[in-house]
Amino acid sequence: SSGDGERDREVNVQVVLRCRPLSEEERRSNVKSAISCSDTKKEVTVLQSLFKQPDRTFSFDKVFGPDSQQRLIFDHAVAPIVNDVLEGYNCTVFAFGQTGTGKTYTMEGELKQKVSELPDTAGVIPRSVRHIFEILEKRKADYSIKVTFLELYNEEITDLLVLEDQSRYPEDRQKRPITLMEDGKGGAVIRGLEEIVVYSPSDIYGLLEHGSARRRTAGTALNKQSSRSHAVFSINIHVKETTVGNEELMRCGRLNLVDLAGSENIARSGAREGRAREAGEVNKSLLTLGRVITALVEHSVHVPYRDSKLTRLLRESLGGKAKTCIIATVSPSVHSLEETLVTLDYASRAK
Ligand code: ADP
Ligand code: MG
Repeated sequence: SSGDGERDREVNVQVVLRCRPLSEEERRSNVKSAISCSDTKKEVTVLQSLFKQPDRTFSFDKVFGPDSQQRLIFDHAVAPIVNDVLEGYNCTVFAFGQTGTGKTYTMEGELKQKVSELPDTAGVIPRSVRHIFEILEKRKADYSIKVTFLELYNEEITDLLVLEDQSRYPEDRQKRPITLMEDGKGGAVIRGLEEIVVYSPSDIYGLLEHGSARRRTAGTALNKQSSRSHAVFSINIHVKETTVGNEELMRCGRLNLVDLAGSENIARSGAREGRAREAGEVNKSLLTLGRVITALVEHSVHVPYRDSKLTRLLRESLGGKAKTCIIATVSPSVHSLEETLVTLDYASRAK
Protein backbone atom coordinates (compact mmCIF):
# COMPACT_ATOMS: atom_id res chain seq x y z
CA SER A 1 0.00 0.00 0.00
CA SER A 2 1.01 3.62 -0.39
CA GLY A 3 1.10 3.97 3.39
CA ASP A 4 3.88 1.36 3.60
CA GLY A 5 5.78 3.08 0.84
CA GLU A 6 5.75 6.33 2.73
CA ARG A 7 7.04 4.65 5.80
CA ASP A 8 9.85 3.13 3.75
CA ARG A 9 11.09 6.50 2.58
CA GLU A 10 10.67 8.21 5.91
CA VAL A 11 13.81 8.44 8.01
CA ASN A 12 13.03 6.70 11.23
CA VAL A 13 16.01 7.93 13.21
CA GLN A 14 15.28 10.16 16.19
CA VAL A 15 18.07 11.79 18.13
CA VAL A 16 17.36 13.09 21.61
CA LEU A 17 19.77 14.66 24.04
CA ARG A 18 20.05 14.11 27.77
CA CYS A 19 22.29 16.16 30.04
CA ARG A 20 22.98 14.64 33.45
CA PRO A 21 23.01 16.82 36.58
CA LEU A 22 26.31 17.80 38.20
CA SER A 23 27.30 15.09 40.63
CA GLU A 24 27.46 15.77 44.35
CA GLU A 25 31.24 15.67 44.11
CA GLU A 26 31.23 18.21 41.28
CA ARG A 27 28.89 20.51 43.18
CA ARG A 28 31.00 20.26 46.30
CA SER A 29 34.09 21.34 44.39
CA ASN A 30 32.15 24.16 42.68
CA VAL A 31 32.49 22.79 39.16
CA LYS A 32 30.75 25.14 36.74
CA SER A 33 28.07 23.98 34.36
CA ALA A 34 28.79 24.87 30.74
CA ILE A 35 25.56 23.54 29.25
CA SER A 36 22.19 25.16 28.97
CA CYS A 37 19.19 23.08 27.87
CA SER A 38 15.88 24.26 26.51
CA ASP A 39 13.26 21.49 26.40
CA THR A 40 10.78 23.75 24.62
CA LYS A 41 13.16 24.96 21.93
CA LYS A 42 14.72 21.49 21.73
CA GLU A 43 18.12 23.12 21.88
CA VAL A 44 21.33 22.72 23.82
CA THR A 45 23.78 25.58 24.16
CA VAL A 46 27.42 25.08 25.03
CA LEU A 47 28.54 28.17 26.93
CA GLN A 48 31.90 28.72 25.35
CA SER A 49 31.57 32.36 26.37
CA LEU A 50 33.10 31.13 29.65
CA PHE A 51 36.26 30.93 27.54
CA LYS A 52 35.63 34.12 25.57
CA GLN A 53 34.46 32.17 22.55
CA PRO A 54 31.06 32.31 20.88
CA ASP A 55 28.43 29.98 22.35
CA ARG A 56 27.34 27.07 20.20
CA THR A 57 23.79 25.80 19.91
CA PHE A 58 22.66 22.38 18.69
CA SER A 59 19.12 21.22 18.06
CA PHE A 60 17.67 17.76 18.55
CA ASP A 61 14.32 16.01 18.24
CA LYS A 62 13.97 16.30 22.01
CA VAL A 63 16.10 17.73 24.78
CA PHE A 64 16.08 16.49 28.36
CA GLY A 65 17.79 18.81 30.83
CA PRO A 66 19.57 17.85 34.08
CA ASP A 67 16.31 17.69 36.06
CA SER A 68 14.65 15.19 33.71
CA GLN A 69 13.59 12.06 35.51
CA GLN A 70 13.91 8.51 34.15
CA ARG A 71 10.16 8.28 33.66
CA LEU A 72 10.09 11.31 31.38
CA ILE A 73 12.78 9.90 29.09
CA PHE A 74 10.89 6.63 28.81
CA ASP A 75 7.46 8.18 28.23
CA HIS A 76 8.60 10.74 25.66
CA ALA A 77 11.45 9.06 23.80
CA VAL A 78 11.06 5.29 24.19
CA ALA A 79 7.41 4.33 24.75
CA PRO A 80 6.35 5.16 21.14
CA ILE A 81 9.10 2.83 19.91
CA VAL A 82 8.05 0.04 22.24
CA ASN A 83 4.51 0.39 20.89
CA ASP A 84 5.87 -0.10 17.38
CA VAL A 85 7.64 -3.27 18.46
CA LEU A 86 4.30 -4.58 19.74
CA GLU A 87 2.89 -3.94 16.25
CA GLY A 88 5.56 -6.24 14.84
CA TYR A 89 8.43 -3.92 13.98
CA ASN A 90 12.08 -4.26 14.93
CA CYS A 91 13.44 -1.24 16.74
CA THR A 92 16.62 -0.09 18.45
CA VAL A 93 17.39 2.41 21.19
CA PHE A 94 21.02 3.50 21.64
CA ALA A 95 22.70 5.36 24.46
CA PHE A 96 25.64 7.28 23.03
CA GLY A 97 28.08 9.55 24.85
CA GLN A 98 31.32 9.97 26.72
CA THR A 99 32.04 7.60 29.61
CA GLY A 100 30.55 8.97 32.82
CA THR A 101 27.68 10.89 31.20
CA GLY A 102 24.85 8.50 32.11
CA LYS A 103 24.50 5.90 29.35
CA THR A 104 24.17 3.00 31.77
CA TYR A 105 22.07 5.10 34.14
CA THR A 106 19.71 5.88 31.25
CA MET A 107 19.48 2.32 29.94
CA GLU A 108 19.52 0.31 33.17
CA GLY A 109 19.24 2.84 35.95
CA GLU A 110 19.21 1.68 39.48
CA LEU A 111 17.37 -1.51 40.24
CA LYS A 112 16.53 -2.74 43.66
CA GLN A 113 16.19 -6.46 43.53
CA LYS A 114 13.25 -8.24 45.15
CA VAL A 115 11.12 -5.14 44.88
CA SER A 116 8.25 -5.71 42.48
CA GLU A 117 7.58 -1.99 42.05
CA LEU A 118 10.17 -0.26 39.92
CA PRO A 119 12.06 2.51 41.70
CA ASP A 120 11.94 6.03 40.19
CA THR A 121 15.58 5.56 39.19
CA ALA A 122 14.86 2.52 36.96
CA GLY A 123 15.98 3.09 33.38
CA VAL A 124 14.80 2.35 29.86
CA ILE A 125 15.30 -1.45 29.92
CA PRO A 126 13.18 -2.32 32.97
CA ARG A 127 10.57 0.28 31.98
CA SER A 128 10.30 -1.15 28.47
CA VAL A 129 9.87 -4.63 29.88
CA ARG A 130 7.13 -3.52 32.26
CA HIS A 131 5.36 -1.64 29.47
CA ILE A 132 5.45 -4.67 27.16
CA PHE A 133 4.01 -7.03 29.76
CA GLU A 134 1.33 -4.50 30.79
CA ILE A 135 0.10 -4.02 27.24
CA LEU A 136 0.11 -7.69 26.31
CA GLU A 137 -1.71 -8.61 29.51
CA LYS A 138 -4.28 -5.88 28.92
CA ARG A 139 -4.87 -7.21 25.41
CA LYS A 140 -5.19 -10.73 26.83
CA ALA A 141 -2.74 -11.71 24.11
CA ASP A 142 -1.26 -15.15 23.63
CA TYR A 143 2.40 -14.24 23.69
CA SER A 144 5.92 -15.33 24.48
CA ILE A 145 8.91 -13.18 25.36
CA LYS A 146 12.55 -14.16 25.07
CA VAL A 147 15.57 -12.10 25.97
CA THR A 148 19.27 -12.12 25.20
CA PHE A 149 21.98 -9.93 26.70
CA LEU A 150 25.39 -9.77 25.10
CA GLU A 151 28.54 -7.75 25.26
CA LEU A 152 30.65 -6.84 22.27
CA TYR A 153 34.27 -6.07 23.02
CA ASN A 154 37.02 -5.93 20.41
CA GLU A 155 34.57 -7.42 17.90
CA GLU A 156 34.08 -10.45 20.16
CA ILE A 157 30.71 -11.44 21.57
CA THR A 158 30.26 -12.56 25.18
CA ASP A 159 26.97 -13.85 26.57
CA LEU A 160 26.11 -11.86 29.69
CA LEU A 161 23.27 -14.16 30.68
CA VAL A 162 25.15 -17.36 31.17
CA LEU A 163 27.89 -18.34 33.56
CA GLU A 164 30.26 -20.77 31.89
CA ASP A 165 29.66 -23.49 34.49
CA GLN A 166 25.89 -23.15 34.12
CA SER A 167 26.05 -23.52 30.39
CA ARG A 168 23.66 -25.80 28.58
CA TYR A 169 26.74 -27.00 26.76
CA PRO A 170 29.01 -28.55 29.40
CA GLU A 171 31.23 -30.01 26.70
CA ASP A 172 32.76 -26.63 26.07
CA ARG A 173 32.72 -25.25 29.57
CA GLN A 174 35.92 -23.25 29.02
CA LYS A 175 34.71 -20.63 26.66
CA ARG A 176 31.75 -21.19 24.45
CA PRO A 177 32.44 -19.61 21.09
CA ILE A 178 29.68 -17.31 20.02
CA THR A 179 29.53 -16.77 16.31
CA LEU A 180 27.59 -14.44 14.13
CA MET A 181 26.22 -16.06 10.98
CA GLU A 182 24.24 -14.67 8.08
CA ASP A 183 20.77 -16.19 7.89
CA GLY A 184 20.59 -15.85 4.11
CA LYS A 185 17.67 -13.42 4.36
CA GLY A 186 19.73 -10.36 5.13
CA GLY A 187 19.67 -10.90 8.87
CA ALA A 188 22.04 -12.44 11.35
CA VAL A 189 21.83 -15.41 13.67
CA ILE A 190 23.98 -15.58 16.75
CA ARG A 191 25.04 -19.15 17.38
CA GLY A 192 25.62 -20.21 20.95
CA LEU A 193 23.79 -17.32 22.62
CA GLU A 194 21.43 -18.15 25.44
CA GLU A 195 17.83 -17.09 24.74
CA ILE A 196 15.85 -17.01 27.93
CA VAL A 197 12.07 -17.24 28.06
CA VAL A 198 10.62 -14.85 30.59
CA TYR A 199 7.17 -14.99 32.16
CA SER A 200 7.05 -11.81 34.20
CA PRO A 201 8.78 -8.44 34.40
CA SER A 202 10.59 -9.45 37.57
CA ASP A 203 12.17 -12.40 35.70
CA ILE A 204 13.85 -9.88 33.45
CA TYR A 205 14.91 -7.55 36.24
CA GLY A 206 16.84 -10.45 37.77
CA LEU A 207 18.51 -11.30 34.45
CA LEU A 208 19.42 -7.69 33.87
CA GLU A 209 20.96 -7.39 37.31
CA HIS A 210 22.91 -10.58 36.78
CA GLY A 211 24.19 -9.66 33.32
CA SER A 212 25.04 -6.13 34.30
CA ALA A 213 27.01 -7.39 37.31
CA ARG A 214 28.97 -9.66 34.96
CA ARG A 215 29.79 -6.71 32.76
CA ARG A 216 31.04 -4.67 35.71
CA THR A 217 33.21 -7.53 37.00
CA ALA A 218 34.73 -8.08 33.60
CA GLY A 219 35.31 -4.33 33.41
CA THR A 220 37.59 -4.24 36.41
CA ALA A 221 39.40 -7.42 35.40
CA LEU A 222 40.10 -6.25 31.88
CA ASN A 223 41.39 -2.72 31.72
CA LYS A 224 38.60 -0.29 30.87
CA GLN A 225 36.57 -2.96 29.12
CA SER A 226 33.21 -1.57 30.12
CA SER A 227 33.91 1.83 28.57
CA ARG A 228 35.06 0.19 25.34
CA SER A 229 32.37 -2.44 25.06
CA HIS A 230 28.81 -2.35 23.81
CA ALA A 231 26.03 -4.07 25.77
CA VAL A 232 23.03 -5.22 23.74
CA PHE A 233 19.85 -6.25 25.57
CA SER A 234 17.28 -7.68 23.16
CA ILE A 235 13.65 -8.50 23.79
CA ASN A 236 11.95 -10.77 21.26
CA ILE A 237 8.17 -10.78 21.32
CA HIS A 238 5.92 -13.29 19.59
CA VAL A 239 2.20 -12.68 19.67
CA LYS A 240 -0.29 -15.20 18.32
CA GLU A 241 -3.17 -13.59 16.52
CA THR A 242 -6.27 -14.97 14.92
CA THR A 243 -7.44 -13.36 11.72
CA VAL A 244 -11.00 -12.90 10.53
CA GLY A 245 -10.72 -16.10 8.51
CA ASN A 246 -9.71 -17.93 11.71
CA GLU A 247 -6.15 -18.34 10.50
CA GLU A 248 -3.44 -18.25 13.08
CA LEU A 249 -0.78 -15.65 12.58
CA MET A 250 2.41 -14.89 14.47
CA ARG A 251 3.36 -11.26 14.95
CA CYS A 252 7.03 -10.89 15.87
CA GLY A 253 8.82 -7.81 17.07
CA ARG A 254 12.23 -7.22 18.45
CA LEU A 255 13.50 -4.41 20.66
CA ASN A 256 17.24 -3.85 21.02
CA LEU A 257 18.43 -1.66 23.87
CA VAL A 258 22.06 -0.78 23.38
CA ASP A 259 24.49 0.78 25.85
CA LEU A 260 27.30 1.83 23.50
CA ALA A 261 31.01 2.11 24.18
CA GLY A 262 32.11 5.58 25.32
CA SER A 263 32.13 8.12 22.49
CA GLU A 264 35.75 8.98 23.42
CA ASN A 265 36.47 5.77 21.50
CA ILE A 266 35.77 7.56 18.23
CA ALA A 267 38.84 9.13 16.75
CA ARG A 268 38.32 12.81 16.06
CA SER A 269 40.57 13.59 13.14
CA GLY A 270 42.21 11.59 10.40
CA ALA A 271 45.63 12.03 11.99
CA ARG A 272 44.41 10.96 15.37
CA GLU A 273 42.53 8.09 13.86
CA GLY A 274 45.77 6.65 12.49
CA ARG A 275 47.53 6.80 15.82
CA ALA A 276 44.50 5.65 17.75
CA ARG A 277 44.08 2.69 15.46
CA GLU A 278 47.62 1.55 16.14
CA ALA A 279 46.92 1.81 19.84
CA GLY A 280 43.82 -0.31 19.29
CA GLU A 281 41.65 2.54 20.48
CA VAL A 282 39.41 2.95 17.49
CA ASN A 283 36.22 1.08 18.05
CA LYS A 284 35.28 -0.51 14.76
CA SER A 285 31.66 -1.13 15.69
CA LEU A 286 31.16 2.41 16.97
CA LEU A 287 32.69 3.95 13.84
CA THR A 288 30.69 1.71 11.53
CA LEU A 289 27.46 2.44 13.40
CA GLY A 290 28.06 6.14 12.73
CA ARG A 291 28.58 5.45 9.04
CA VAL A 292 25.49 3.24 8.84
CA ILE A 293 23.32 5.90 10.46
CA THR A 294 24.72 8.60 8.18
CA ALA A 295 24.02 6.40 5.14
CA LEU A 296 20.44 5.80 6.31
CA VAL A 297 19.79 9.47 7.01
CA GLU A 298 21.24 10.47 3.62
CA HIS A 299 19.34 7.69 1.81
CA SER A 300 22.60 6.29 0.40
CA VAL A 301 22.39 3.27 -1.84
CA HIS A 302 25.13 1.49 0.06
CA VAL A 303 24.74 1.04 3.81
CA PRO A 304 27.91 -0.53 5.27
CA TYR A 305 26.17 -2.93 7.67
CA ARG A 306 28.71 -5.66 6.98
CA ASP A 307 31.71 -3.67 8.24
CA SER A 308 31.28 -4.43 11.94
CA LYS A 309 29.70 -6.99 14.24
CA LEU A 310 27.40 -4.51 15.95
CA THR A 311 25.85 -3.35 12.68
CA ARG A 312 25.62 -6.92 11.39
CA LEU A 313 23.74 -8.10 14.41
CA LEU A 314 21.42 -5.08 14.43
CA ARG A 315 20.93 -5.00 10.67
CA GLU A 316 17.29 -6.05 10.70
CA SER A 317 16.54 -3.44 13.34
CA LEU A 318 18.24 -0.49 11.63
CA GLY A 319 16.86 1.20 8.56
CA GLY A 320 13.86 0.28 6.45
CA LYS A 321 10.76 0.21 8.60
CA ALA A 322 12.68 -0.07 11.85
CA LYS A 323 12.56 2.91 14.19
CA THR A 324 15.77 3.99 15.86
CA CYS A 325 16.21 6.32 18.79
CA ILE A 326 19.61 7.62 19.79
CA ILE A 327 19.82 9.05 23.26
CA ALA A 328 22.97 11.18 23.30
CA THR A 329 24.22 11.79 26.83
CA VAL A 330 26.45 14.65 27.99
CA SER A 331 27.91 15.98 31.22
CA PRO A 332 27.22 19.60 32.14
CA SER A 333 30.73 20.03 33.56
CA VAL A 334 32.95 22.71 32.12
CA HIS A 335 35.79 20.19 32.33
CA SER A 336 34.06 17.89 29.81
CA LEU A 337 33.40 20.65 27.34
CA GLU A 338 35.66 19.33 24.62
CA GLU A 339 34.20 15.81 24.69
CA THR A 340 30.69 17.24 24.99
CA LEU A 341 31.20 19.15 21.75
CA VAL A 342 32.35 15.96 20.02
CA THR A 343 29.21 14.13 21.17
CA LEU A 344 26.91 17.01 20.18
CA ASP A 345 28.53 17.38 16.76
CA TYR A 346 28.39 13.68 16.07
CA ALA A 347 24.85 13.16 17.38
CA SER A 348 23.33 16.21 15.69
CA ARG A 349 24.73 14.99 12.37
CA ALA A 350 22.72 11.77 12.74
CA LYS A 351 19.47 13.71 12.40
P1 ADP B 1 28.26 5.91 31.54
O1 ADP B 1 27.53 4.61 31.48
O2 ADP B 1 27.92 6.82 30.41
O3 ADP B 1 29.73 5.73 31.70
P2 ADP B 1 26.97 6.14 34.10
O4 ADP B 1 25.59 5.77 33.72
O5 ADP B 1 27.77 5.11 34.79
O6 ADP B 1 27.78 6.70 32.85
O7 ADP B 1 26.86 7.47 34.97
C1 ADP B 1 27.95 8.02 35.69
C2 ADP B 1 27.47 8.45 37.08
O8 ADP B 1 26.53 9.51 37.00
C3 ADP B 1 26.78 7.33 37.83
O9 ADP B 1 27.13 7.41 39.19
C4 ADP B 1 25.31 7.63 37.63
O10 ADP B 1 24.52 7.13 38.68
C5 ADP B 1 25.28 9.15 37.60
N1 ADP B 1 24.21 9.66 36.71
C6 ADP B 1 24.23 9.61 35.37
N2 ADP B 1 23.13 10.20 34.85
C7 ADP B 1 22.40 10.62 35.89
C8 ADP B 1 21.15 11.31 36.01
N3 ADP B 1 20.43 11.68 34.94
N4 ADP B 1 20.70 11.58 37.26
C9 ADP B 1 21.42 11.23 38.34
N5 ADP B 1 22.60 10.58 38.31
C10 ADP B 1 23.09 10.28 37.10
MG1 MG C 1 28.32 2.66 31.48
